[in-house]
Amino acid sequence: MVIHDLTAAECHETLSRSGIGRLACARDNVPYVVPIYFVYEPDHLYGFTTVGQKIEWMRLNPRVCVEVDDIKDHTSWTSIVISGRYEELPDTPEYEAERRQAQMLLEKRFLWWQTAHAAEQLRRPDSKPSPTVFYCIHIEETTGRRAAPDAIEAAGFASPPTSARSTPRRRRSRLPS
Ligand SMILES: Cc1cc2nc3c(=O)[nH]c(=O)nc-3n(C[C@H](O)[C@H](O)[C@H](O)COP(=O)(O)OP(=O)(O)OC[C@H]3O[C@@H](n4cnc5c(N)ncnc54)[C@H](O)[C@@H]3O)c2cc1C
Repeated sequence: MVIHDLTAAECHETLSRSGIGRLACARDNVPYVVPIYFVYEPDHLYGFTTVGQKIEWMRLNPRVCVEVDDIKDHTSWTSIVISGRYEELPDTPEYEAERRQAQMLLEKRFLWWQTAHAAEQLRRPDSKPSPTVFYCIHIEETTGRRAAPDAIEAAGFASPPTSARSTPRRRRSRLPS
């Protein structure tokens, strides 16, 4: 397998195609990661959710990381890691244009609101629903890597690396006579 770093254009292309990532945040040095749907715009990710642990934690600490991947098999994959900053898009005149932009992009995904509301029902089955949240992740840094089969693997001959082949053989135990 050969791995190479992605160019900015390759990262852009992968993020534009993908809509699922893992959002990591932290509070008091404790990490927390959950899968999310998002839409990508250059420099931003937009998401939709209801208030729960991740929103409460990101309000306290807006430094986040998002991982996005496209895995075909163990020798063919693409993975992107984004560092960024969480910003909530509240329902106020100041944020109206950006909220509308986020909603317009998210609406292109079928039933884009469904997962957030299903998570909400699990959280508070008997009480009033908590407010919905549109949010933005401002992208500060993006790195990407892609793996592809090497020439031997592409030809269908997968062999373990030399170090794996040279593991000591187990000593044969003598059968009792
Ligand atoms: C492919 C995919 C896409 C998703 N997209 C969205 C989305 O766009 N918007 C959205 O609101 N939700 C989405 N979800 C659900 C999301 O992962 C969270 O479960 C949900 O947002 C609630 O997160 P919370 O931090 O508010 O948890 P809370 O409801 O506050 O619950 C916190 C507790 O539940 C556990 N928990 C929370 N989520 C998960 C999980 N996914 N798996 C295991 N344990 C969990 C935590 O460890 C913690 O103990 C998606 C899930 C998947 C699989």
